[in-house]
Amino acid sequence: MDLFEYQGKQYFARFGIPVSPGGVADTVDEAVAQADRVGYPVVVKAQVQVGGRGKAGGIKLASNADEVRTHAGNILGMDIRGHTVRRLWIERASDIAREYYASFTLDRGARKHLGMVSARGGVDIEQVAAEDPQAIARLHVDPARGLSETDARTLVEEAGLDQPARDGATDILRKLYRCFVEGDADLVEINPLVLTPDGRVHALDAKVSLDNNADFRHAEWEEYRATEVLDERERLARSKGLQYIGLSGTVGIIANGAGLAMSTLDVVNQVGGSAANFLDVGGGADATVMANALEVINTDPNVRSILINIFGGITRGDEVANGIVQALERVRINAPLVIRIDGTNADVGRAILKAHESDRVISQPTMLDAARKAVELANRAEARA
Ligand code: GDP
Ligand code: MN
Repeated sequence: MDLFEYQGKQYFARFGIPVSPGGVADTVDEAVAQADRVGYPVVVKAQVQVGGRGKAGGIKLASNADEVRTHAGNILGMDIRGHTVRRLWIERASDIAREYYASFTLDRGARKHLGMVSARGGVDIEQVAAEDPQAIARLHVDPARGLSETDARTLVEEAGLDQPARDGATDILRKLYRCFVEGDADLVEINPLVLTPDGRVHALDAKVSLDNNADFRHAEWEEYRATEVLDERERLARSKGLQYIGLSGTVGIIANGAGLAMSTLDVVNQVGGSAANFLDVGGGADATVMANALEVINTDPNVRSILINIFGGITRGDEVANGIVQALERVRINAPLVIRIDGTNADVGRAILKAHESDRVISQPTMLDAARKAVELANRAEARA
C-alpha cells in the first residue's frame, strides 16, 4: 500500500525523522487556514501518488494568503499524469542549500535490504542511475545485523554528502532504516533530503510503501486504507475479500493460491497472451467465491476470455466444478471461460463440467492447454473488437 506524501511524513515523524510542520487541505479556504496556522512562506503541494509533481506544476511556494489562494486554486483538480489532485499538503517552506537522496528497499535477489544515498537529490533517481551510476552509493544490509552507526556514516561519506550534512544525514539514515524495518515498509525514500543554509538536515519529500503482509500488526494502518487509491475492480474485490490485482491485458485469471496465480500469468505470457488481472481465490473455491470472482472480472471491459486454473488439495475438484456451475447460473459472464481443474477429485470435477460445456465454457486437461485456448479466444475476440 502506497502512502501519500503527507502520510509518509507522519510515518517518518513517528521514527524521529525531521520533517517540516504542515497540514492537509481539501479546499482553497482550508489551504489558506493551514498556511495561516503554519506560518509563511509555505509550500503548496499536490497529494498524488506519482513522482515529478514539481515539474508538473503541482508544487508552488507562496509567501502570503493571496498566493496560497491562487496556487491552491490552480493545483486542486489538476491532472498529474492521470492522477487528479483532490488534497493538498501545506508546509512551512524550507531554505535549501543542497538536495540529496536516501532510500531503503528490499533486494529480493540478494536477500538483503538495500540502502541507497546520493548527493544528487531532488531529481529523478532513475535518471541519475542511468546517467551517472557512480553518484549513488549502495549498501546491502543484513536484516539480522541491522544498520550500524558506522554503516550509515560510511554510506553518507561514500555518497559524498557535504561535510556539514554528514552527522544529520547519518542520524536520519539510521532512523529511516528503523522506519523501514519496524514500520514494515517495502520502500522508504526521501528525495530530496535537504541541507538548509543554517546546517540542518531534513526530509522535504516522503515516499513510503507499506508491506500489506504486515497489516495484521498495524491497526493504525486503517486510516491509510481509508484513503487508498484503488481502481474500481480492486475496490469491488477487496469488499468481497478477494486478492485481486488489476493488470492491462485481455485474459482474466482466477486461480487458487498466489503461486498458482503467478504461474498461470507466466504461462499466459509464454503462449503469447497477456493477463488482465491476478485473482487468487485462496483455499475455498465454492460457488459464492467463484461467483464473486467472476463478477469482479466481469467489470473489466478489457477481458476477452477468462482462465480458471484450480489445483485441488483441500479444495476438491468436484466442489470447484459445482461452484463454477452455480456461479454461471448467478452471473452472466461477458467472456468465454476456459477451465482447468487438477488435483483432488479432478476427474469428478471435469465430469460435472462436461454437462455444461459449450463454445463459452471449455474444459482443458492441462494448464498449458488451458492457457493456449484462453489466449486463442482472447486474440480472436480482440481481432473482432
Ligand atoms: P516531487 O517533484 O513529486 O518529487 O516533489 P518534491 O516534494 O520532491 O518537490 C520537488 C521540488 O520542489 C524539490 O526538489 C524542491 O526543489 C522543491 N521544494 C519542495 N519543497 C520546498 C521548500 O520547502 N522550499 C523550497 N525552496 N523548495 C521546495
Ligand atoms: Mn520528490
